Amino acid sequence: MASLATRPAPAAGRTDRAGTGLLTARTADAYEELLGQVTHDVAERFRTVRAPSVGPDRRHLERLVDAADLDGPGVGDAAALEEADALYAGHAVWFHHPSYLAHLNCPVVLPAVAAEAMLAAINTSVDTYDQSLVATLMEQRLVRWTAGRIGFPAGDGVFTSGGTQSNLQALFLARARAERAAGEDRAALLPRLRVLSTEAAHFSVSRAATLLGLREDAVLTVPVDAAGRMDVAALSTALAALAETGERAMAVVATAGTTDRGIIDPLPEIADAVRAHDAWLHVDAAYGGGLLLSRTRRRLLDGIERADSVTVDYHKTCFQPVSSSALIVRERADLAATAHHADYLNPAAEAASEDAEPNQVDKSLQTTRRFDALKLWTTLRSLGPDAIGDMVDAVCDLADEVREMLAEDPDLHVLGTTDLSTVIFRFRPEGLDDARADALQPLIRRILFHSGRAMVARTTIDGTPWLKLTLLNPEATPLDVAAVLDLVRATGRGLLAGSRLAATEGAR
Ligand SMILES: *Cc1c(COP(=O)(O)O)cnc(C)c1O
Repeated sequence: MASLATRPAPAAGRTDRAGTGLLTARTADAYEELLGQVTHDVAERFRTVRAPSVGPDRRHLERLVDAADLDGPGVGDAAALEEADALYAGHAVWFHHPSYLAHLNCPVVLPAVAAEAMLAAINTSVDTYDQSLVATLMEQRLVRWTAGRIGFPAGDGVFTSGGTQSNLQALFLARARAERAAGEDRAALLPRLRVLSTEAAHFSVSRAATLLGLREDAVLTVPVDAAGRMDVAALSTALAALAETGERAMAVVATAGTTDRGIIDPLPEIADAVRAHDAWLHVDAAYGGGLLLSRTRRRLLDGIERADSVTVDYHKTCFQPVSSSALIVRERADLAATAHHADYLNPAAEAASEDAEPNQVDKSLQTTRRFDALKLWTTLRSLGPDAIGDMVDAVCDLADEVREMLAEDPDLHVLGTTDLSTVIFRFRPEGLDDARADALQPLIRRILFHSGRAMVARTTIDGTPWLKLTLLNPEATPLDVAAVLDLVRATGRGLLAGSRLAATEGAR
C-alpha cells in the first residue's frame, strides 16, 4: 500500500480525505467544497420546485429507500450527498411552497438556516458550561429575552426539542410542586393528581400525564364555548369539586393557539380561577408564541405573564428550522426539580458554590443537547423581532382574508373563528346531504395529497370531518390560497360527478 507521501493527489476536494471522514483541519477545504455542492443542489431545488411535493406513492418510495446498500463500500462524500439530493430532496414536502397549507410547518428564515449549518459543524452540546462556553451564555440570554417578552422579569428556562418535550417538563415541574405542597409520599399522592385542560389541548399533555405516572383518567376535560375557548366558569366548578373529593389539581393547562383551530383560551380569567385553587398554570403557546413578537396582536396573549410555565415553539411561529422550542418558567427556583447531579458532569458540591458554572443540563430533561438557540440568535440579529412579528401578523391577516372569501362561497363552508392562522372549512355545495359531505372531505384531502399539487389537512370536530388550512407562509397571497380552494372545489365536484355516474351505471 502506498505511503501517505507517495499517494497520488486526489482529483478533487470532494473525495479528498485519507482514512476517516471527520471534519478537521485536514478536511476543511473538502468541507467547504461539499457544503458548496449541497447548498448549490438545495438552492436549485428551491429555484425549480413547482408543487409542495411530487406526490409519488409509498411503494415507490419504499423501493427507492430499500435500494440503498447500507452495508456496501462507501461511495464517497460527493456521491452520497448527490444520492441524498435525489432521494430525499427530490421527494421532500416543501413548506415554502404557497400551495402547502396543511400542518404547523413553517418556511424558514435564511439566517437560521445558515446558523444551522454552523452549529452542526461545530457540534456544541449545551449541557455543561465546559462543553459550550459562550453558547450556554447565548442560550441563557435568549431564554431571558423570551421570559421578558412573556412578562417574567425573574424568569428562567431552557431550550427543548419541541413543544412535546416542553409540555412534559412543565407537567414534571408541576408534579414536583404538588408533591412539595402535599408533603406526602409520591405513591399515595399520584393517584389523586389531576390535570385540567380542554379537549383541544395538544395530545402531548395527556401523554405527559401518563408518563409522569398519573392515572389514565387524570386529565379532566374542561368544556369549551362555541368558539372552542375554555369555559372558565366550568373550570372554577371543576377545581372546587376536586377540592371536595380530596383530589388535587396538579396543573391547569391553557392553550394559547390550539393546534386545530388556533384558539387562545381566556388567559386572565383562567389565571384568576387557578390562583384561587393553588394549582400550577401552564400555558401551551407552542403555536401562539409568535404573537410575543407581534406589534398588533401581542394583546391576545395578555395574562400569559401570570402562568407558572410557558411552552414556546420557535419552529412554528418564529420561522425557525426544526428543532427550536423552549420551556420558560416564571420562578427560577421551580426549575430546580429538573436538576440531577452526576459526579462526572455537574457535581453537586460545585453546583452549590457561589460562582458555580452555568450548567444547562441542570435545567433540562436532555443531556447532550443541540445549540438550537444560535438560530434564533442570528434571526433576531439579522431581521430584528419586529420583522418576525410582522410575518406572524401577515399569516393571521391572510387567515382573515381567506375566511372572508369562504363566507361568500356557495360550495365551501367555513367554521367558527380563529385567533391565529388556521381555517377550517368543508366542501358542501347546495343539496348535498351531511352523510355524503362527511364522506367527501377525507377523500378530497387524499386526492390532493396524492397529486402533490396542494396540501391541506383534515380534522374532525364534534364528530364532523372538516378540511383545514394552517397558514404559516407570510409570502402566500389570497390568490395562492384561492387557487388551492379551486382545486378543492374541482376535486369535490369530480368526486360527486363520478359517484353520480357510478350510481347511474349501477342502475342500468
Ligand atoms: C405543535 C404543538 C405541540 C407539540 O409541539 P412539537 O414541537 O411538535 O413537539 C404542543 N402544543 C401545541 C398547542 C402545538 O400546536
